[in-house]
Amino acid sequence: MSLKSRNAVVTGSTSGIGLCIARALAAEGANILINGFGAAADIETERAKIEADFGVKCVYDGADMSKPAEIAAMIQNAETKLGSCDILVNNAGIQFVSPLEEFPIEKWDQIIAINLSSAFHAIRAAIPGMKARKWGRIVNTASAHSKVASPFKSAYVTAKHGLAGLSKTAALELATFGATSNCISPGYVWTPLVEKQIPETMAARHLTKEQVMHDVLLAAQPTKEFVTVDQVAALAVFLCSDAAAQITGANISIDGGWTAE
Ligand code: NAD
Repeated sequence: MSLKSRNAVVTGSTSGIGLCIARALAAEGANILINGFGAAADIETERAKIEADFGVKCVYDGADMSKPAEIAAMIQNAETKLGSCDILVNNAGIQFVSPLEEFPIEKWDQIIAINLSSAFHAIRAAIPGMKARKWGRIVNTASAHSKVASPFKSAYVTAKHGLAGLSKTAALELATFGATSNCISPGYVWTPLVEKQIPETMAARHLTKEQVMHDVLLAAQPTKEFVTVDQVAALAVFLCSDAAAQITGANISIDGGWTAE
């Protein structure tokens, strides 16, 4: 499989799953626009490493995924600097854990903006080019929480369920344009996002770190193993391939059996 001559935008790709997806797409020959927060020197190191490791072009755009105008400008930037946005991976996301009645209103707004509305703004901006070129791939990093709920994650669960609906709607609107839209729904993947929510979950549930890891996080995952970033990236790359041309509107679980029914 080759993605040579394809240009990809991966949001939230300075860390974790997004960085691994960006590198995996580059390994197949795609040029990449990376996005996300972090220390400028670290981001530049990752950007240059993608170019050096895979011989592709890689540009960075620091658009804040809670700002619609910056998101539209990021897609424009990909079209200007790379030539197009053929592949859009909506991956940026944050988490906050708290009982509903104490959930900070600004955290709710931020999670809905970054985990859900950002995908709308990016898809909205990228679709005209995909339709015109009659080829496109939208991959949305959703979550097992796009299918099932957990207590204390109201904003995240709501945003991810919404992302699954947006993804299906885009699939239907793009169906006759050679472009697909799908969700990848991981269970617990060992990344900074998961690591960061351990103290919050310890506080919300009055548990130790070990209890959170084994009794809360992996309790839901029948395999009792974390998903790896490489496994998620491999699925994203497959969804961008020609072999996946007829997979659209799907929400594919990669969760060690968590959501098996
Ligand atoms: P991470 O914290 O390692 O990475 C998140 C990325 O998003 C970073 O690059 C960060 O800079 C970026 N980001 C955050 N806020 C942003 C903003 N306002 N604008 C631009 N970029 C922003 O997390 P991760 O675990 O790699 O998560 C990536 C995606 O995978 C998220 O959507 C998350 O919900 C989803 N997910 C993660 C898991 C898991 O267990 N780690 C499971 C299911 C789904």
